[in-house]
Amino acid sequence: MNFCFSSEEEAFREEVIDFLRPYRNLEGFIQQGEKWSEVKALFGAMAERGWLALAWPESEGGLGKGIAHEYILWDEFGYERAARNPLAAGIVAKTLIRHGSPEQKERWLPPIRTGELHFSLAYSEPEAGSDLGSVRTRATREGDDYVIRGEKCWQSYAQDMDCFWLLARTGEPDSRSRGLSLLIVDKDSEGLQVESLPTLDGDQLNAVVFDDVRVPANRRVGPENQAWSIMGEALADERHIQFPAGRLRRDLEDICTWAEAQGFTREASVRVRLGALATDIREAEMHSLSVLDAMNQGRDASVAAAANKIAHTLACQAIARAAMDFGGERALVEGDRPELLWRLSLWETIGGGTTEVMRSIVARQGLGLGGTR
Ligand SMILES: Cc1cc2nc3c(=O)[nH]c(=O)nc-3n(C[C@H](O)[C@H](O)[C@H](O)COP(=O)(O)OP(=O)(O)OC[C@H]3O[C@@H](n4cnc5c(N)ncnc54)[C@H](O)[C@@H]3O)c2cc1C
Repeated sequence: MNFCFSSEEEAFREEVIDFLRPYRNLEGFIQQGEKWSEVKALFGAMAERGWLALAWPESEGGLGKGIAHEYILWDEFGYERAARNPLAAGIVAKTLIRHGSPEQKERWLPPIRTGELHFSLAYSEPEAGSDLGSVRTRATREGDDYVIRGEKCWQSYAQDMDCFWLLARTGEPDSRSRGLSLLIVDKDSEGLQVESLPTLDGDQLNAVVFDDVRVPANRRVGPENQAWSIMGEALADERHIQFPAGRLRRDLEDICTWAEAQGFTREASVRVRLGALATDIREAEMHSLSVLDAMNQGRDASVAAAANKIAHTLACQAIARAAMDFGGERALVEGDRPELLWRLSLWETIGGGTTEVMRSIVARQGLGLGGTR
């Protein structure tokens, strides 16, 4: 495995660090809901440099850079806590590039590249989270349209986004993963309702009700009933940027600064614990670099990505948890860094696939235990 970045990639890192200086206090990575207009402006500034389309092919209006550039970009964004990678420029655009018709690319890629159009991911349902094969929201073909009926939940940032990237059932009710399709749905469609679900970190997720929402059939991306493999490819395209180690380094720095200010670091046991966390972070970073390495070499990165998600999200929780152990009630002062990091870290092991499901991937696909499904 090659852990070194080229001099061009290192120069790009410096450029990203410079670019991010004015955004030091934005914290859109952890509070996007509250900061959306500023985060959107940041995406606009990135778009001016072509960074929303950094690794898209040049033929599709991108800069055609390698995925190491994307890794570096989002690693530094994580460290500065500026913003999380937007779904539109990632999953949505990369899927359109692979599977969209020429008309769809022409319609959707330019406003995504300029940062004007943003998407929310509408996969999960009350009875279908880890098991997306049981999605029930139905898209029924009627002439030139699909009519959508059903309910989604846990949609991140849906309150501020323009469109949904919707996973809906177009096959028979028991068709499981063989009967799903992907559709682009405008948020302001008639019959669509977004309801806020407040979260522990002071932000919100959303429930979305589709009550006979009519969508032109040309909003379906890829062949009917074949969303499953398309979603898998999209996930694979984004694995190297989902859990940036920079975010962990920053969390630990914050907790070290806080522990020092509180006088806790005079105790050897506190210093030992912080040292152990620094080691955990390096370990998590090695996992994320091995994801990048596998992708760069064209190998399947799913096991490495599952291991990375486990290591990263457990490290997030361990860093915040340490502050609780050092400081007791002093770590619970509302608005202070430790308690905010704690509330933020709790959901990390659930969103994007739970730790149990990730462990199952490592056991089945990595260790070859219990079959491949
Ligand atoms: C902050 C956050 C943001 C999210 N954003 C989005 C979003 O933007 N769009 C979207 O569509 N969804 C989103 N989700 C939903 C997320 O993908 C689901 O919560 C997640 O996949 C788990 O599904 P579930 O909540 O239905 O739990 P369930 O799947 O019901 O799981 C319940 C428990 O059972 C365990 N379990 C389930 N299956 C297995 C298994 N096979 N083996 C072992 N244990 C298992 C789980 O680990 C968990 O502990 C978000 C969730 C969170 C927390």
